[in-house]
Amino acid sequence: MVGPMKKKQPLARLKLAPVPRSVTLLGATGSIGSSTVDLLRREPARYRVEAVTARRNAAALAQLARELGARFAAVADRKAYAELKAELSGSGIETAAGEEAIIEAAQRPADWVMAAITGAASLKPTLAAAERGATVALANKECLVCAGALFMRRAAASAATVLPVDSEHNAIFQALSAGRREDVQRIVLTASGGPFRTWAPDAIRRVTVEQALKHPTWSMGPKITIDSATLMNKGLELIEAHHLFALAPDKLDVVVHAQSVIHGLVEFRDGSVIAQLGSPDMRIPISHCLAWPTRMGTPALRLDLARISTLTFEAPDPTRFPALAIARQALAAGGAAPTILNAANEIAVREFLNRRLGFSAIPALVEATLDAAQKRGEMAEPQSVEQAVTIDHNARRLAVDLLPEIAAMAS
Ligand code: NAD
Ligand code: MG
Repeated sequence: MVGPMKKKQPLARLKLAPVPRSVTLLGATGSIGSSTVDLLRREPARYRVEAVTARRNAAALAQLARELGARFAAVADRKAYAELKAELSGSGIETAAGEEAIIEAAQRPADWVMAAITGAASLKPTLAAAERGATVALANKECLVCAGALFMRRAAASAATVLPVDSEHNAIFQALSAGRREDVQRIVLTASGGPFRTWAPDAIRRVTVEQALKHPTWSMGPKITIDSATLMNKGLELIEAHHLFALAPDKLDVVVHAQSVIHGLVEFRDGSVIAQLGSPDMRIPISHCLAWPTRMGTPALRLDLARISTLTFEAPDPTRFPALAIARQALAAGGAAPTILNAANEIAVREFLNRRLGFSAIPALVEATLDAAQKRGEMAEPQSVEQAVTIDHNARRLAVDLLPEIAAMAS
């Protein structure tokens, strides 16, 4: 036995040697991008990096591209191209710039693509990855809010695999495997409640940018951190869940859970509720998508329930946090409403971060933009990417026009 075994071994080893999974990181320099890189560093033999992208931080992107041995690096902002090219000269890494370069990065042949660009700007590149049948780890939620039906339709037609990175949706995805889809009664997304969960309405009106950027449980990029403080993030996530899991709005619930230990729950028809728990560290859901359908080790803190001792739950307060109800209405209205909601919110958050809009004016601007668009009768659902982009652009213009009025009203 020993002889033949020995002879066969090299072949068997060859066969069993895991082929590295090729991966592309869209939004490699951001919060999700960095957490993904952190996981890739832990298992360099298991992954090969095809492409990395960023908006304009050429120095950080070049450093990542070199370290990860990427074949292609692209910045969205053409003004950052000269720096990227200089930083990577002699490295053999291809470079490019502009919106098309980000799409090209998504189109390059990687098995797995992390979609972690912020905002509706992620729609075209994420769709480009899905349309060539890639496995898309979807962190970005705005593209599903902007054009969810379209995105899921195209992904299905291309036999793409869409894996949810957003912690709540990843939790639901994991919990759903406990039963049959037709036996699902409802799903529940948890919300931390943000930094102002216990604040009085007056204090919420005077919130500063610095206060809003301090999230109690998660460390994230600025846009989603503000969305978490207004609870618009949970509204966007309801719409995201509706598309990802093909569930009617009345099957989607939200509960405020300040400790961010339980991320999502699925209730089955027999009354069983299956939840996913873990410390609030995005490396857990990212690793689930990166190693899927297997698992990988992560440096995330292990859950010590005895030390945590108390988990609390409460209903979201619609008076102090109107954004969640506005998003729910947009989901119920359908058509162009979610696209407009997302675009107006992106403008509102940008203006709040630029200190030109108060915190309470964020949901007010979103609501006013939706109302104005409805009066104009521009509410048909986008059937193509071009239509989604047009609705998005028009809503952004409308929000900018309404800005002075809303800023004055809310101050
Ligand atoms: P971030 O701001 O930290 O990073 C965004 C990344 O996208 C950066 O690499 C940036 O250079 C790039 N980018 C931004 N605008 C771009 C544009 N117009 N074109 C090309 N590239 C652009 O954001 P983040 O916190 O990592 O979040 C990324 C996405 O993941 C968001 O959609 C967010 O809602 C979602 N998400 C994030 C978290 C989190 O913990 N951070 C959790 C769940 C979901
Ligand atoms: Mg989330």
